Amino acid sequence: MKKPRVPHRTKSPRLVKELCRLAAGLAASGSRIEDTFWENRLTTKIHSQLRSGDDQNLEAALDQLYDTDTAAYGEFIYAIEAAIECSILSQEDRHYDVLMFAAPVLSWSRFSIPSGAVTEEVLANVRVPLQTHVLAEEARFVLADCLFSPDQLPRGYHFTHELASRLWTAAVAGERDVHINPGQLAETSRFLSDTRFLLGAIAVPQGKPMFRWQEAGNPSGDKGGNKLMGLEASRADILREWQTHGAEALRPLFQGCAFELLIPDGFFSAWRMTDRLARSYSMHATVDFLQSTLNITPDRLRAVIAPFYDQWLEEYRVSFMLKDQDNVLYGIVWSLVGDEDESSDTVSQIETTLRECGVELTTLLDNRFLLEYCEECGAPLFPNPDGEVVHAEFPEEGEMVPIHLH
Ligand SMILES: [Zn+2]
Repeated sequence: MKKPRVPHRTKSPRLVKELCRLAAGLAASGSRIEDTFWENRLTTKIHSQLRSGDDQNLEAALDQLYDTDTAAYGEFIYAIEAAIECSILSQEDRHYDVLMFAAPVLSWSRFSIPSGAVTEEVLANVRVPLQTHVLAEEARFVLADCLFSPDQLPRGYHFTHELASRLWTAAVAGERDVHINPGQLAETSRFLSDTRFLLGAIAVPQGKPMFRWQEAGNPSGDKGGNKLMGLEASRADILREWQTHGAEALRPLFQGCAFELLIPDGFFSAWRMTDRLARSYSMHATVDFLQSTLNITPDRLRAVIAPFYDQWLEEYRVSFMLKDQDNVLYGIVWSLVGDEDESSDTVSQIETTLRECGVELTTLLDNRFLLEYCEECGAPLFPNPDGEVVHAEFPEEGEMVPIHLH
């Protein structure tokens, strides 16, 4: 379950009430046709909020539903995200389905992970595998000429929708690239391991497939259960092709970095998938980093896992130290994503990942830790084997730059 945002002053209590009523109606609906009734009304209201440039009413309705109606909360989030990332645009009497998509990249480096402006040449090279392997044959698409770090993604619903609209319009017009002013991008925090996003928009004649995997299965005429299997296999094939050819196109940007491409998808879905997969990626990156900089094998390491709470369980923090020492060398945050909560099997996922990394000795602390950060640099504090939270201190070594991990 997602955590509620910081409460805002409500601009229009009447509108918030109406948004909640429509979302609750949709959640309780007993038929597809009634779904459509509620969805249409809810979507119209959401659109007018997105145009108003103010997220307050949407946020307030979300807060209210979070406390009162879980099912309606889920429907409402889904409706907001849909209104932001997809639409139908018309041009010269033709209608197009449009979608803002993201192509995520996981990366780690002892140096720096690129972000910001992408050259025309790299962008042109990326277009080829996207068109050939990922997007449907009839899809038109544009790419923003920027590699976005998480800090550089648009903040809030209104701004995300504004970017989506710009991309959709360009895609329908048959343009190729959309220019992002690098001066307007936020500074990127520096982490050992981080995520990057290429953003773009797809436009197809209404009702046509957008992605290759939507086309798959049709020619062979698979039926029933086979169809689903065929679809999944082909999604995996598409990912493999994209990872091979997309990585070739992006390699000039990622000098000195390890990187891995994830499957491009609708903006919000891609973002959530990335948050989920980034956790184990970051753990592998950390162990690789410790192994190579300390010149040790991973079985010399010990990991301490502890749960950290705000109002609810927010995240686990995992510290790394040498087996025979107590001082924390490094730490990573394993956040809960999407609908994960205390009942999820997060700890076993963390332990499995540590084992994959070759770290055999792990300690799970079951104290309830509070989310604490360093007052000076803002870095999260990490548990040591004695159950205290401390600053991770990596041994100073010449030009070694202190870097904090996600
Ligand atoms: Zn600090």
